[in-house]
Amino acid sequence: MAQFPDELLNGYRNFMSGRYAGESERYQRLAKEGQKPKAMIVACCDSRSAPETIFDCGPGELFVVRNVANLVPPYEPDGNYHSTSAALEFAVQSLKVRDIIVMGHGRCGGIGAALSPSAEPLSPGDFIGKWMGLLDKPAEQIRKAGILTSAERQRALERVSIRNSLHNLRTFPCVKILEDAGKMRLHGAWFDISTGELWIMDAASGDFVRPEL
Ligand SMILES: [Zn+2]
Repeated sequence: MAQFPDELLNGYRNFMSGRYAGESERYQRLAKEGQKPKAMIVACCDSRSAPETIFDCGPGELFVVRNVANLVPPYEPDGNYHSTSAALEFAVQSLKVRDIIVMGHGRCGGIGAALSPSAEPLSPGDFIGKWMGLLDKPAEQIRKAGILTSAERQRALERVSIRNSLHNLRTFPCVKILEDAGKMRLHGAWFDISTGELWIMDAASGDFVRPEL
């Protein structure tokens, strides 16, 4: 059997003697009563953009789904496999989360791939190319904007993509109905890995601004 990574086992030991020991009551209560997170976050798989770390959340506080480039696909009840849509359905219909946040981040590899798709797929399946195809239209528009530098194109698509995902979220009937009834709020956010800055999308203008802290 393959050796389980030592650094993970060491981390687990620290967790058990530190955080778990300190919060064991909370874990036991969550085990008994179940989870009741008030917010769902759609974040990137990127190892540098963990929502629980950025928002300093403990167990039971955030329902997180992570995928390449934090994309929400449109509502497609076609019988295919839709993991993000399944997580969304569970969060909305079973957990009844109040807020859904789509959180992008700087230097996103998935967004970079959407702007510079590789000519040769890495594998015959080319899952990333297909997945990032969700951004074909905005990526094409931004690529054509010759006035932008490559770093500006990257940041532009990272943010346009968040607005695109919020648009797709509203194609899910369960989300649209609850938002229209004032029972659910949708938000966009963008995290800058290099500075730690968090930018929040203004719902009316679509612009990203620094929140007052
Ligand atoms: Zn990313």
